[in-house]
Amino acid sequence: MEGFNLDKLNAEYVHKEPKEIIKYMVERIGVSKITLASSLSIEDQVLTDILLKVNPKARIFFIDTGRHFQKTYDLMDETMKRYNFNYELYVPQSEELEKMVADYGPNSFYESVELRKNCCEIRKVRPLRRVLTTVDAWICGLRKEQSLTRQDVEIFEWDKTHSIYKINPIAYWNEKDLWNYIKRENVPYSELYHDGFASIGCQPCTRSINKGDDLRSGRWWWEDADKKECGLHWDTDLETEMIYTDTKG
Ligand code: SF4
Repeated sequence: MEGFNLDKLNAEYVHKEPKEIIKYMVERIGVSKITLASSLSIEDQVLTDILLKVNPKARIFFIDTGRHFQKTYDLMDETMKRYNFNYELYVPQSEELEKMVADYGPNSFYESVELRKNCCEIRKVRPLRRVLTTVDAWICGLRKEQSLTRQDVEIFEWDKTHSIYKINPIAYWNEKDLWNYIKRENVPYSELYHDGFASIGCQPCTRSINKGDDLRSGRWWWEDADKKECGLHWDTDLETEMIYTDTKG
């Protein structure tokens, strides 16, 4: 894999458009070795639009946890038709899912942080690892504005958990930038945003928020703010690894 000077790139691209960032990485890494993680959020819909305009053969994946909103699946369908492409779909391993639900029930995520992280580990983190072994870089919709846990996000990062590059082309965008792009380019987006949702995730773990609230406060709202990540974007998922090993026994 090609080596990049991340500090230099971050300084060079900080004021450039996401399209230029994506185009640069797709050309340098190669279209088959870079992928976009989509949860069908407005961030991911903007990036889908940009990426497919840069290269219609670009890879975009969706992790189907089995617990998404129906409106998310509807939007997935609409997006596929609009851009004439197919998502790469990843699902949890059936044996792991069967054991977790049999042992702890279908709603164990409400019972403790450990069981919530265990559910995220099985339904999201492990499928993610499978995708990321096939690429040298992944593109994400992380933004500094989203929460306290995301303030240090940079455009170009080294993902040490997966040993690949992580690109956050809209790290510096605010909500207004997103909606301006959505309207200008007529990008399909989730109806959930009209119902007060600011972040899209699994249905049982996502709720609407009030104006002015932290944008990710509707995710795992029963937990402390500093624990509100699912493991997809942690530097290390050792903690969930340990929980998973414990619960398997
Ligand atoms: Fe499970 Fe909730 Fe995590 Fe989805 S967000 S994987 S339902 S704990």
